[in-house]
Amino acid sequence: MILEFPPYYSKFQCVAGNCPDTCCRDWELDLDDETYYRYQVVPGPLGEKIRGLIREEDGYRFFPLTKEGFCPFYDGSDGLCGLIKKLGPDILCQACDEYPRYFGCCGNYEQRDLSLSCPEAGRLFFETPGIPRILRVELPDSEEQDPLTKEETDRLQAVLAERNRVLESLRGAAGEDLEEALKAAGIFFPAAPQEVADLCNKQEEMNTRWEAQKAGILAAAAHYADWNEAFVRAVPKEQDWFFKLAAYFVFRYWIDAYFAENEELDFAPQIRLTCRCLVQLRLMCLAAFHEKGHFTVEDMVWTAHLFSRQVEHSDQNVALFKH
Ligand code: SF4
Repeated sequence: MILEFPPYYSKFQCVAGNCPDTCCRDWELDLDDETYYRYQVVPGPLGEKIRGLIREEDGYRFFPLTKEGFCPFYDGSDGLCGLIKKLGPDILCQACDEYPRYFGCCGNYEQRDLSLSCPEAGRLFFETPGIPRILRVELPDSEEQDPLTKEETDRLQAVLAERNRVLESLRGAAGEDLEEALKAAGIFFPAAPQEVADLCNKQEEMNTRWEAQKAGILAAAAHYADWNEAFVRAVPKEQDWFFKLAAYFVFRYWIDAYFAENEELDFAPQIRLTCRCLVQLRLMCLAAFHEKGHFTVEDMVWTAHLFSRQVEHSDQNVALFKH
């Protein structure tokens, strides 16, 4: 079993009540079967409440959000999960337990990372300068994994080699112009600010703050040249942050080429996704900078958090950006 992950992955710890947002907002998570059956035997009024709240639609089970958009077990008085407080962390469903970690698995290979939609993960990500080196750990194979065929192994190795080549190229160009670095790495797609802003109206709405973010993106696209010049002048660290973001998208999405149906490996969807994501993030940064008159690493963490919730947590929006 081969695991690959960035160094900040194992440093993550949820800050719960100290989180500036909460993952208990806006998301209706699927209840996995194992959790569902565990919930059937929780005793007393809490067990009855849990079972009474579960809804089932199209084969998925979930807790509907409150009218304010929170998980019904979120306790707004302290920002903690009411289920954990009463029953301990083992009661969580798989999605809540794993978040913000995500896993990409092929046979005995697994890549792991943290989603920037979690502000604490974003803090770990942005506060360490430079593009992190991916760590590789070999563990004994588990019997649960289906071994890959020779063709599948070759395909996976080709994807990982291409991903590593791109990451190395970006690392070598850090400090230079990002567009030139993307071109040198062979992953540049000319995503114009207005084109990316136009995609806003086609995106699935993933959070209750999307309308306000959309207005900011449209304004930033309309004033792109002026707002970007002011931003670059006032926020020198933006260059490091955007190189790191480019590397984050490459690490996260290049593996998708392995699963694509085409026989020949094609990274064009991942390239379009990466370049459009970088432009939407920049537009969101410009809007925040224009509104506040300054932009700190905390603002970068917050912007990436809102972006990731809106785009990365929707299969529909990811597909839109890849197309
Ligand atoms: S968003 Fe991250 S830090 Fe905040 S409550 Fe969720 S897991 Fe914890």
